[in-house]
Amino acid sequence: MPELPEVEVTRRGIAPKIAGRRISAVAVREPRLRWRVPEAVHGLAGRTVLGVARRAKYLLIDCGDGCLILHLGMSGSLRILPAGTAPEKHDHFDLVLGDRMLRLRDPRRFGAVLWAESASGAGPAAHPLLAHLGIEPLSRALDGRRLHALTRAHRSAIKLFLMDSRRVVGVGNIYASESLHRARIDPRKPARRLTAAECARLARAVKETLRAAIRAGGSSLRDFVGSDGVYGCFQARARVYERDGLPCRRCATPVRRIVQGQRSTYYCPACQR
Ligand SMILES: [Zn+2]
Repeated sequence: MPELPEVEVTRRGIAPKIAGRRISAVAVREPRLRWRVPEAVHGLAGRTVLGVARRAKYLLIDCGDGCLILHLGMSGSLRILPAGTAPEKHDHFDLVLGDRMLRLRDPRRFGAVLWAESASGAGPAAHPLLAHLGIEPLSRALDGRRLHALTRAHRSAIKLFLMDSRRVVGVGNIYASESLHRARIDPRKPARRLTAAECARLARAVKETLRAAIRAGGSSLRDFVGSDGVYGCFQARARVYERDGLPCRRCATPVRRIVQGQRSTYYCPACQR
């Protein structure tokens, strides 16, 4: 499943290739994605792409009077191709911009192509899918003080807190384990028991982990291909993720695997007390 770093890598890959260009045509070959592609999307030709932003794992293509919202779901990928490139089986959506196009391929069809009008002045942030999302981890809004304040009311394990997108967005299973190892915090520790110093370390660790993954081109568990067609290699460098029984990269103690919220957690029992 594409995670925040893959989506950010995709954003950086496509933004310079479509920003400032006029939409010349739209092709919706399969409207039955996670939600039905709305009629408004069919009529986007003539608008100019002003920029490409990201909120959590949603890509927001600013078209002036509204915003095209794209989500890659479980298996989606976006590519820039020459206009007119013949579609293959799972190529459900094209945004054509003169001599090139942005193409969504999504074999499992859990992705989304939606439209948010900005006529109300509220912008895409008010869209029902985006309105209740937590803090953006790479923004300044996430720091030790904010994390400390947010965790006070939560008895749940810090790993589960981190993965709850109503609190902090975009920290998936891999990145939660990796960040907690980097911050030397036991993933089972109740969120509200974290000290101010631990929260400061964790906020920093989350940013460092996500930035490292973005640099590596996004990690790849399944069939994600970055917008330039290069597989990421973050996972090969993981500190603890899927390394149970292997030596901790910091202290050589064997990494342990446990299950939290039906997901595997990997941690070092010596470094993360
Ligand atoms: Zn260790």
